[in-house]
Amino acid sequence: MAVRVAVLSDVHANLAALDAVLAHAREHAVDAVWSLGDMVGYGPRPNEVLARLRDAGARCLLGNHDAAAAGIITTELFNTLAAEAAEWTARVLLEDQRSFLRSLPRVATAEGVTLVHGTLHDPLWEYLISTDAARRHFALAQTRVSFVGHTHIPLVVWRDEGGSFESIQPGDGETIDLGERAVCVNPGGAGQPRDGDPRAAYAVFQASQNRVEFYRVVYDMGETQRQMRLSGLPDALAARLAHGR
Ligand code: ZN
Repeated sequence: MAVRVAVLSDVHANLAALDAVLAHAREHAVDAVWSLGDMVGYGPRPNEVLARLRDAGARCLLGNHDAAAAGIITTELFNTLAAEAAEWTARVLLEDQRSFLRSLPRVATAEGVTLVHGTLHDPLWEYLISTDAARRHFALAQTRVSFVGHTHIPLVVWRDEGGSFESIQPGDGETIDLGERAVCVNPGGAGQPRDGDPRAAYAVFQASQNRVEFYRVVYDMGETQRQMRLSGLPDALAARLAHGR
């Protein structure tokens, strides 16, 4: 049984960020890896990121960008830059990695908790950022604890008995006791953070202790930006990494 799980989301083909996160996780005695989707899209190294996660034995969920790259959904709901990157990803994706993405579940359970990219109401697309989205998500949760990604922002949301919500945005090095209420945890974005902090974000779930540690990790962003520009990916996608947006 895994005791300490590295939970990452939205790696977005950012290999330098993933490598830094995995190295940090190894130093923090992690014995399993969960990836909550959007392994690819936006970034320059989709095949290498998927290979790395598969080598690490990561339990992976399907995200909207993974689904687009694998041809499961079209890019019609994507904005222009995201669509351009999704089409580039689909072109360079190796057949083996495409099949891997096509095999991924939209919802999974592990260590007694639920994993999904968006929300249980809409696993690929819904952002858990509003009270309405939280209400829809918690109504469908079959476990007390769930993990989501998709927003690229670290967050813990608790639901009270009365149906109201309490949330916090944990910072680097913070350990949060999940307590006894229904709770949903977002580890933040590993490969494209959007909370204004450009460092890679991820979390370590101490399953048996009911606690989550949140971390930010410095990585070689310049290398990822170089790879993006050389790949012909939109310049704005490389630039945004520096702003954590
Ligand atoms: Zn994403």
